[in-house]
Amino acid sequence: MSAPTVSSPSAPAASAGTHPAPQSAPTSGGLSGFNGTRQVPVPVNEPVRSYAPGSPERASLKQSLATMAAETLEIPIVIGGEHIHTGNMGHSVMPHDHSHVLANYHKATTDHVHQAIAAAASAQREWANWAWEDRAAVFLRAAELLTTSWRDRLNAATMLNQSKTSFQAEIDAACELIDFWRFNAAFAQELYAEQPLSDHTMWNQLDYRALEGFVYAITPFNFTSIAGNLPTAPALMGNTVLWKPASSAMLSGWYLMQLLEEAGLPPGVINFLPGDPVAISEVALGHRDLAGVHFTGSTGVFNSMWQTIGGNMSGYRSYPRIVGETGGKDFIVAHASADPQALAVAMVRGAFEFQGQKCSAASRVYVPQSLWSTVRERVVGMMDTIRMGDPTDFRNFMGAVIDEKAFRRITGYIEGARANDEIVHGGGSDSSKGWFVEPTLIRTEDPSSRLLCEEIFGPVLSAFVYPDSQWDEILKTVDTTSPYALTGAVFARDRRAVRQAMLALRNSAGNFYVNDKPTGAVVGQQPFGGARGSGTNDKAGSKLNLVRWVSARNIKETFNPPHSYEYPFMAEE
Ligand code: NAD
Repeated sequence: MSAPTVSSPSAPAASAGTHPAPQSAPTSGGLSGFNGTRQVPVPVNEPVRSYAPGSPERASLKQSLATMAAETLEIPIVIGGEHIHTGNMGHSVMPHDHSHVLANYHKATTDHVHQAIAAAASAQREWANWAWEDRAAVFLRAAELLTTSWRDRLNAATMLNQSKTSFQAEIDAACELIDFWRFNAAFAQELYAEQPLSDHTMWNQLDYRALEGFVYAITPFNFTSIAGNLPTAPALMGNTVLWKPASSAMLSGWYLMQLLEEAGLPPGVINFLPGDPVAISEVALGHRDLAGVHFTGSTGVFNSMWQTIGGNMSGYRSYPRIVGETGGKDFIVAHASADPQALAVAMVRGAFEFQGQKCSAASRVYVPQSLWSTVRERVVGMMDTIRMGDPTDFRNFMGAVIDEKAFRRITGYIEGARANDEIVHGGGSDSSKGWFVEPTLIRTEDPSSRLLCEEIFGPVLSAFVYPDSQWDEILKTVDTTSPYALTGAVFARDRRAVRQAMLALRNSAGNFYVNDKPTGAVVGQQPFGGARGSGTNDKAGSKLNLVRWVSARNIKETFNPPHSYEYPFMAEE
């Protein structure tokens, strides 16, 4: 008996002479008409414009602000590229002037959610089979449009509807979103290039398929860039999406949708569904084809969605990918060797920019006794100079908080502190015209106070002063005080203290800063996300996030398959 060819035991026996019938060409997709390994442009972070007095960008942004403030838009639902009006309306207002309506938007019904799921399924047949470079081109074009002709519109919408200053709008709606789109294309390229080993007998290939079904993207009010990234990151990887924007950030959401259409996004790839989050989610999360959830928002909402998904488990076609970036109780811990001025600036910028409504905002600070009076004096000095008001007045450092619900929650914490804690500075509020809450510094002597544990999501910084000798103990307190683990910072000039903090707080923050404020992560530089109660830590704007939106299929192709089932060891001695 001749020795058989060695091959994997699972190799199928050859069926000589059988050739599959030629398949008809796919109706779309594929890399037809192009030979070559394409490379997306090397991404570079978008430079931040200053909007300083006299600059051309300031003049042109001011013009857009004036024009857009004078308009009242009507915002439709978008399903399969079709703009739909339901007549059941919601209103988008200026938080700093809450009687000023910027837009009226149509709310989706549960029927529309079913229609959007069908539109997403239909669009996916083509979109998932496009060469990935062509999908990337849509988002690279969107990035370039946002850099140029759309920049003012999206920044102005973010300033008017979310009450951000020009600088806060610029780093979010323009720069971060441009970066998400450019860097994600490069990260997708890197991911797709990861292929298994092969040799001369076989070729192994990983096909990074889109998920089977639709992705449900639910976005928060506080970052226009996140509203842009959550639906588009899965779409880049070939998925089609139902996008439920935040009702309090509808204006920038609507402009984003239009920008994507102008960039060439095919109908049905992203379906825009403003409306009641509970009713929309009930249909989306209950559907057999739910393939993934891309959420950013509060921990409570994310937990309830996860529970709903768990309850529906037997009804899904696949295990849905669940990605959520949620709340935070972000800390600054200062060592006795900290530079008091740098610490004071980090406290003011970290806690009060955008009214403390960044998930990364510093909301608790631990200061050694020896530094407290200096730091307190400097922080209060800076707080005294902070101007708060309409962000279209560029002298303002702060605008209003997003809505009445936020105003009541934040002022509730401040009022609650009056009895037992010291309001060091601020504490005032005024809701007559806009939802204004003063930047507020509170000192509490109770290390387990709710002020140090719970997410307030407003311009409130709670301080705890500890004896210098209790550095080790305070690190333990920081680690165990709150259920969140999003961002945190240590201030120290003593390197030993920095090292101790890095180790003791290893699991207390997904983004950890040394001698810097805990806000302001930049795509490609500080991949962002936290663990524990702060989310699944899938790092928005990185390859780690894109991995969640693909379902890899391995293909093994054997060039010369065995023609016998026997192995050499079976041969006669
Ligand atoms: P939110 O949880 O109130 O809303 C987020 C989204 O969920 C919105 O679109 C909203 O309409 C929707 N929603 C609300 N209730 C729902 C429900 N019952 N079922 C389904 N969807 C529902 O959050 P927000 O006020 O828009 O944003 C602030 C929160 O987001 C904060 O907790 C902040 O820390 C967090 N956040 C986290 C990150 C991060 O990267 N970790 C980034 C930004 C914001």
